Amino acid sequence: MKKTYAVSAVGLLLAGLASVTPTFAQPEPGKQTPQSTEIWEPVPPIVTPGVYSGGTAGTTPPSDAVVLFDGKNVDKWVANKGYNPTNSTAPLQWVVRDGVLYSGKTSSAMTKQEFGDMQLHIEFQTPEKVEGNGQGRGNSGIFLQGRYEIQVLDNYENPTYVNGMVGSVYKQAIPLANPSRKPGEWQSYDIIYLAPHFNKAGLMIEPGYVTVLLNGVLVQNRAAIRGTTEYIGYPKVVAHGKGPLILQDHGNPVGFRNIWVREI
Ligand code: MG
Repeated sequence: MKKTYAVSAVGLLLAGLASVTPTFAQPEPGKQTPQSTEIWEPVPPIVTPGVYSGGTAGTTPPSDAVVLFDGKNVDKWVANKGYNPTNSTAPLQWVVRDGVLYSGKTSSAMTKQEFGDMQLHIEFQTPEKVEGNGQGRGNSGIFLQGRYEIQVLDNYENPTYVNGMVGSVYKQAIPLANPSRKPGEWQSYDIIYLAPHFNKAGLMIEPGYVTVLLNGVLVQNRAAIRGTTEYIGYPKVVAHGKGPLILQDHGNPVGFRNIWVREI
């Protein structure tokens, strides 16, 4: 048995040396492209969401919520570059108009307050006038603890890789359904997030978990978060404590309103 194994190993080695066509090869870590981590199938089913009570004026927060944006100002926010939680104190340049916070083109928006486990509510509106396609249409994102992106995207009749569509944990968890509303209509996220746990050596002893409802439809059911959100390559495990929320500036104007958190 042992001899057979040895012969097989030599055979494999020779076969490997003889082959010069690396069509089977995984890319080297340093050679990965954004496409390396895209998944396109199976496509989650389209679900038409029910009537959402906040469709016109939006919801109101529960009494114990930390209100992060109430339509008036950005006092709870600062500017952020690169979607990484930092100690930035630069003023946020996003515009507040008619009670709506619009993403800018110069920076992402980061909360001054940091959070661990939480319930998050946020409403968003992608532009009614459709411009671009795929990842270039109404792209923003909600970075939990500044690290883990729940994708915001106009995915109404706009296919893209499914692990990067609205409702995904970007490039980590495909949504269970696509309950997107039409461009220009208000949509809601309700997110229950349990932060990851790390030991003193920085190893992740329990991953983060996220449950997400988009327009009242379950799209993530306690999905495990494997590490940081990466556009190229695989998630990285980096130990951290509490972290801010970051709303992504992806160069597309996206409106937000009624942002609140309940710490749990
Ligand atoms: Mg995004």
